[in-house]
Amino acid sequence: MTEMKSGWRPRALVTGAGGFIGHHLVKYLEDKGYWVRGVDIVPPEFEETAAHEFQLLDLRRWPNCLQAVRGVGEVYNLAANMGGIGYITSVKAEVMHDNVLINTHMLEAARLHDVKRFFFSSSACVYPTYKQDNSEAEALKESDVYPADPDNEYGWEKLFTERLCLNYCQEYGLETRVARFHNIYGPLGAWRGGREKAPAAICRKVAETKDGGPIEVWGDGEQARSFCYIDDCLEGIFALTHSEIRDPLNIGSDRLVTVNELVDMVMNIADKKLTKEYDLTKPQGVRRRNSENTLVKRLLGWEPKISLEVGLARTYHWIAEQVKKAR
Ligand code: NAD
Repeated sequence: MTEMKSGWRPRALVTGAGGFIGHHLVKYLEDKGYWVRGVDIVPPEFEETAAHEFQLLDLRRWPNCLQAVRGVGEVYNLAANMGGIGYITSVKAEVMHDNVLINTHMLEAARLHDVKRFFFSSSACVYPTYKQDNSEAEALKESDVYPADPDNEYGWEKLFTERLCLNYCQEYGLETRVARFHNIYGPLGAWRGGREKAPAAICRKVAETKDGGPIEVWGDGEQARSFCYIDDCLEGIFALTHSEIRDPLNIGSDRLVTVNELVDMVMNIADKKLTKEYDLTKPQGVRRRNSENTLVKRLLGWEPKISLEVGLARTYHWIAEQVKKAR
């Protein structure tokens, strides 16, 4: 854990600081007494950044990565071209191209600048399809990742970068830390436009629809996932980064819910009754994906604390506010 000496502040870079998790992480680190540089190709959309310095840089470009890491001890590399299931299953070449450049350049820049800790946000999308393709599939433990067969290209790129991190650690001594996020959600994230994830999309649809109206659900609604609230995710990122754990760890909730159940929960929060209309032509991803948290609990003592009901209510109220403003 970083010791705060009086007057001295640890210095961190957060890439993707204009995005959902990166923006929250900047605030979290700032609260802990860090000096923070945020970098992104766009500024945060919903509120001012808390970063001491914010640079607009395209991290696909090598000189920009060198500039971004200058003078920091910790790098939290969250920048990625990504979105919800509709986005990552249709925009494939660009996602792989952009993310492999960002991650490869960021690792090398961190090595050259002698960065002390390098955090990388991987994803539950690295897990193989054959472990998630039926409604009895078990929760995913870290060792389930091989033999590899991610169900989308975004997951293949994440797996490549996980391996790159491990090799930078073993060969060059760069202290890399890797988390596999499982559906992180909360306020101040994308809620429309195609890059939003299921919880935000459902909150938006419920907020936009009058009581008694229809709500479109992708697939048959029986696909199941777990959802982790942003505040829990931030605690996990920080604990992992300052731990001695060099292998990837799940950061997710182990409470599995179907999309139908998620819709019911949001309708309850909004006090609305809508009729679900299923669109079977839309992508729904793997059948069942849950996080197995035994290892992360044992090694980090971390587990999510915020219930889905509480987290969803906070998210719904924020999105309902955005919907109102957009009108
Ligand atoms: P996000 O899309 O809100 O944030 C990503 C940010 O990266 C965006 O602001 C984007 O502008 C920025 N970016 C993209 N290309 C860039 C470039 N060339 N140069 C600089 N910045 C660039 O996504 P998020 O939900 O905050 O995700 C953060 C990280 O966590 C990503 O690496 C993502 O893959 C990973 N992750 C997120 C989830 C989740 O549920 N949110 C799940 C698994 C993994």
